Amino acid sequence: MVRSPELAPLGILGGTFDPIHFGHLRLAEEARQQLRLARVRLIPAGRPAHRGAPGARAEQRLAMTQLAAAGNATLEVDAAEVLSNAPSYTVPTLERLRRELGAQQPLVLLLGADAFAGLPTWHRWRSLFELAHIAVATRPGHSLDTHALPPELAAVCDERSTDASALATSPAGCILRFPITPLDISATAIRSACARLESPRYLLPDGVVDYIAQHRLYREAPCEPEEEPS
Ligand code: ATP
Repeated sequence: MVRSPELAPLGILGGTFDPIHFGHLRLAEEARQQLRLARVRLIPAGRPAHRGAPGARAEQRLAMTQLAAAGNATLEVDAAEVLSNAPSYTVPTLERLRRELGAQQPLVLLLGADAFAGLPTWHRWRSLFELAHIAVATRPGHSLDTHALPPELAAVCDERSTDASALATSPAGCILRFPITPLDISATAIRSACARLESPRYLLPDGVVDYIAQHRLYREAPCEPEEEPS
């Protein structure tokens, strides 16, 4: 039997990106190298379902993501969630990517350790594994240890954990955890710095710093996020 050639996996990094910063970009870059991804697709959420209203409008967060990705051929920016009026949920987005890219294309959903720990609160979370692999990166202040995870997620990790070499051999269904350079950067801290009129420079790309200044973003004290299912 002739085995079909392996397809290089595509990385998917969704986020509010309010604003996008070097923590996101190193996650994308180190995932691409360690997991041998063809490219990473950045997907800013239009109306994030699991938190309060972002500090910047969806079009502004998309523009900042495009500035951050400019000149890097291994990064793609997907505007579909921003252009849609619907609340952003990961499962419908992955279903859209499956329709676009076909059933055989390996997809790797990239998450930081904090986002992964919250997975059981997400809308239709168990369906994620039918649609993509999940690769979880270390993030300062958040444990990747199975014992620190909700029990239902720890059980899924026990069943599905693998290493990077398995990602190209199937389209979906595996979990792997991988270390990245620890960068204790968050969009929350950047918004707070802007609200205090302090410079966020060197936490995010200069083009994004300039965009924030030009549009006078995040000058108001940030709102507390609301806890709702993702
Ligand atoms: P906020 O502070 O507004 O909650 P954030 O900085 O956590 O935002 P998000 O847009 O919510 O950024 O994150 C998108 C994805 O990137 C999530 O999976 C998150 O875990 C991951 N991520 C964000 N910052 C880092 C970081 N410094 N290191 C590793 N992963 C990160």
